Amino acid sequence: MTKPLLIQGGHIIDPSQGIDEIGSLLITEGKISWLGKGEATPPQPDYDVFPAQGLIVCPGFIDLHCHLRQPGFEEKETIATGTRAAARGGFTTICCMPNTNPPLDNQAIVEFVKSKATTEGVVRVLPIGCISKGRKGEELAEMGELASAGVIAFSDDGEPAADSRLMRQAMEYSRAFGLPIIDHCEDTALTEGGQMNEGIISTKLGLPGIPAAAEEIMVARDLALTQLTGAKLHIAHVTTEGSVELIRRAKEKGIQVTAEVTPHHLTLTEESVLGYDTNAKVNPPLRTKRDTQALIQALKENVIDIIATDHAPHTEADKLCEFALAAFGISGFETALGSLMSLVHDGQLTLATLVSKLTYEPSRIIGDKYGKLGTLTIGAPADVTIFDPDMNWVVDTGAFASKGRNTPLAGSMLKGKVMATMFQGKLVYKDDAIKLEAKG
Ligand SMILES: [Zn+2]
Repeated sequence: MTKPLLIQGGHIIDPSQGIDEIGSLLITEGKISWLGKGEATPPQPDYDVFPAQGLIVCPGFIDLHCHLRQPGFEEKETIATGTRAAARGGFTTICCMPNTNPPLDNQAIVEFVKSKATTEGVVRVLPIGCISKGRKGEELAEMGELASAGVIAFSDDGEPAADSRLMRQAMEYSRAFGLPIIDHCEDTALTEGGQMNEGIISTKLGLPGIPAAAEEIMVARDLALTQLTGAKLHIAHVTTEGSVELIRRAKEKGIQVTAEVTPHHLTLTEESVLGYDTNAKVNPPLRTKRDTQALIQALKENVIDIIATDHAPHTEADKLCEFALAAFGISGFETALGSLMSLVHDGQLTLATLVSKLTYEPSRIIGDKYGKLGTLTIGAPADVTIFDPDMNWVVDTGAFASKGRNTPLAGSMLKGKVMATMFQGKLVYKDDAIKLEAKG
């Protein structure tokens, strides 16, 4: 039996219970066993102490959208490295997209990912299954088999399931299994060859553009199909003001839709591409200042429900090349909190809202089939993230746990750093500055 751990005197933020105050948290046998406000001390005398004064203590972050690359692209990332990168970013539950090789379109591959996650991973991995066989958009995957293998949603992420009849059928099945469809909204006829947001900067750089309409057309289609089928739709990586307006109107009509936005689409614009930085090449592309403002407003108003990283690790060779040949994607786990905290420091989001979008809100989309997630309630798994909201640090990609060092934030100073991550009561990441103390 391991000794209980008291996380003492931190600022506890747990939006699932409306807690936003100083207090302490006791972890016993991998579960939250006690929560006391103010100076309260736990009922039992024997425990180790994690001094959390000046730090935020909240439920472990949940990421509904990441790429772990295994099987098939282990040079970019593995379940072992990806889950360690997640832990360094404060994430204790991550949902991996099925665009591996082979793709997660059958039970055997889903079981492979789950067993790798259990034996080699350090946080909870919940797989997402394909909508179509081979993600080809032609024939439905064995959705029933995938549902019984435990996928949390269906998606052909990277591809939009362009055939509307197939998407309609997928929605009808997904409804029967009570699972959402997550769509990567992109009209590929409009984006073919596109390298960045279509606008003044793409013209100036002479790069083919990806218009906002390419996303908005698919968002509109999916909302119409959701209304038709009564399915649950989750829209991945929303990036445009127009998409926000479509989702807003759909929610007003009572359509069952949720949506996510990434840290990079909230905090960076197409200007990051100036200088042809391939690390700022991402799909959907970084948009305009006006779009980022609309996305932040949408988060505040719950038009966009959650923040998800779309962690997309690539090798150096995938990015050290001509812009047109570079892969799309940003390695996002390890900079997510630091970059998002800029919105709190600027007064654009409250800390409680930010934490909610990373914990409670995504837990509501996943449901409680996989245990009580995104909460510090007594008896819940002790998935806890502890961060310093004010610590300045420089992004050193050489120190990343992820194999993907592809981020336009390399070398930048961020304010706000994860200090420790606990998964089921076990410390899976701890900053060197933190020293545990035995009581007495
Ligand atoms: Zn995508």
